[in-house]
Amino acid sequence: MPPSSVWANPSSLSDRAYRIMQSDRETVVIVGAGQAGAWVAITLRSLDPGRRIVLIGDEAHPPYERPPLSKAILAGKAGIESAYIKPGNFYADNRIELMLNRRVRHINRDRSSLTLDDGSSMEYGTLVLATGCRPRMLAIQGADLPQVHTLRTIADVEKIAAWLKPEGKVVAIGAGFIGLEFASVAVEAGCSVTVVDAAPHAMGRVIDGSVAEVVAAGHQGRGVDFRFSTTIEKIEPDGDRAVVVLSTGARLPSDLVIVGIGAVPNTDLAETAGLACDDGIIVNAFGRTDDPKIFAVGDVTRHFNPLLGRSLRLESWQNAQNQGIAVAKAIAGTATPYADLPWFWSDQYDTNLQIIGAPTAWDRIVWRGAPESGKFTAIYMQGEKVVAGNSMNNARDIRFIKQLILNGTPVPDAALADPSTSLAQLAKG
Ligand SMILES: Cc1cc2nc3c(=O)[nH]c(=O)nc-3n(C[C@H](O)[C@H](O)[C@H](O)COP(=O)(O)OP(=O)(O)OC[C@H]3O[C@@H](n4cnc5c(N)ncnc54)[C@H](O)[C@@H]3O)c2cc1C
Repeated sequence: MPPSSVWANPSSLSDRAYRIMQSDRETVVIVGAGQAGAWVAITLRSLDPGRRIVLIGDEAHPPYERPPLSKAILAGKAGIESAYIKPGNFYADNRIELMLNRRVRHINRDRSSLTLDDGSSMEYGTLVLATGCRPRMLAIQGADLPQVHTLRTIADVEKIAAWLKPEGKVVAIGAGFIGLEFASVAVEAGCSVTVVDAAPHAMGRVIDGSVAEVVAAGHQGRGVDFRFSTTIEKIEPDGDRAVVVLSTGARLPSDLVIVGIGAVPNTDLAETAGLACDDGIIVNAFGRTDDPKIFAVGDVTRHFNPLLGRSLRLESWQNAQNQGIAVAKAIAGTATPYADLPWFWSDQYDTNLQIIGAPTAWDRIVWRGAPESGKFTAIYMQGEKVVAGNSMNNARDIRFIKQLILNGTPVPDAALADPSTSLAQLAKG
């Protein structure tokens, strides 16, 4: 697809008035037309009708949300356009210059300009880096075979979906969110599924092992074969298939192999420009980097969270949207710090898992509801305080757990565990 640039006449101002305002105001250039970049543009336009906004992305689609890619869209239950954050014409109608299929190659900070992939340059008054993450790749023989894919973009889903057929044999490398959501869609498509992970249990980075066991049991009950504490030696070609060779010596013939072993922040532009980075572009609670003209937002940032009192990097829908809104406010001069308690969700089969909080430590789990019932909330405790919660098919508990975490008031385990005790009342303190 050729590069496209969409520029619209102003809808609410005359052409002349708009051009005058534009020349008077600083141009905001946003690099990365994903969820976070889009929310900066959308919010900034609503706060500042006269500002020139340019949104540059290297994908072919207008900004879209990624969560449905590994859920309804992969399963064929929803179309690709259902993931679009706004309809394609929104950007032109709102005077946001959306440039798709274009990649920014370099930031020239001394000239406040960017170099694009065609060699052209563009000046900025304010720059926002919203470059997101890319999937971590396997560094082993056979990682480049045609059966081996990652799952991050619409283009990935278009390639993968065709392979999900009854009787298909598929392997997910990595038992994180992507691997497990992929596994559930593949099982429902009639495939036989093996999930391999170097860790001893699923979702090791984000949830307690006891909750992960419940999630894994749901998969096992549907026939998924887990190989934990196992690494991949290599992937060999075998006619139309690939054979995944495990550290145990087992060989898994596969029609499709999905690599879901985490993501790497796209910090290259920032690092080359000399901005401070540490597994993410370092920003404050307003999304500002160490260059006052440059902000960063979304998955690519290591940002300061005032609620947690520490910096962290998040890969989440909530963070992409709300940090995007906060950065737009900071640019528009109505700055409020971005301060959300981290929240994620995952849908696997008919199970909805929600995760609130990002504790660095907890000393026990209090179960509210029996794990085997498939409907419960696991409450993470540190001393007498609630520090996080996971709900399974029990989403209504999440906002009360959030309140309990934020309140920080001591709560007895017995009250939390007793389903007849109102969490809402406990949260009110
Ligand atoms: C399959 C999948 C399922 C998910 N499910 C959930 C979920 O259920 N719940 C949840 O909370 N989160 C989920 N997430 C995470 C969530 O989607 C991400 O956190 C969010 O998309 C991050 O948005 P972003 O804009 O920061 O980055 P991205 O969405 O990665 O967007 C960055 C964009 O910038 C582009 N770009 C990078 N460099 C350049 C450059 N130099 N020039 C131009 N363009 C560039 C990239 O190609 C990309 O289009 C999921 C993610 C994936 C991949």
